[in-house]
Amino acid sequence: MVRTTETSTDQTEEMNADCLFCKIVAGEIRTEMVAESDTAVAFRDINPKAPVHVLVVPRSHHADVSALAGADPQALADVIGLADQVASDLADGQYRLICNVGPKAGQTIFHAHAHVLAGTQLSGF
Ligand code: 5GP
Ligand code: ZN
Repeated sequence: MVRTTETSTDQTEEMNADCLFCKIVAGEIRTEMVAESDTAVAFRDINPKAPVHVLVVPRSHHADVSALAGADPQALADVIGLADQVASDLADGQYRLICNVGPKAGQTIFHAHAHVLAGTQLSGF
């Protein structure tokens, strides 16, 4: 029996022309970069929820961190490593890392990313 692979909406590619974060990674949309590595970039969230609120995104396009973990676990480790560096550089190294996966979790931008929240006493949830 021949199995065919369905076209997935979870695109995994270098750049998605319709993706806001791909455009930021490519420098097509200007934003305040705070750190960069070979595989990830970090920039301030446009609607900050804490004194330090930085988004860390892989340079390659994956719909969310679940897709990223499956396709390129090292890139996910690099995202967390850059998040840790940002929290040390911009705050005291203590931070909350949030990755929303799917609309029910509040995900609105479908390019994998981690929120780094730091710089204050964060409330519980
Ligand atoms: P999500 O809700 O998908 O986990 O997080 C997306 C985040 O992207 C939101 O916190 C939102 O404020 C941020 N965001 C949306 N558009 C822009 C933008 O154009 N520039 C920046 N720096 N952040 C954005
Ligand atoms: Zn993208």
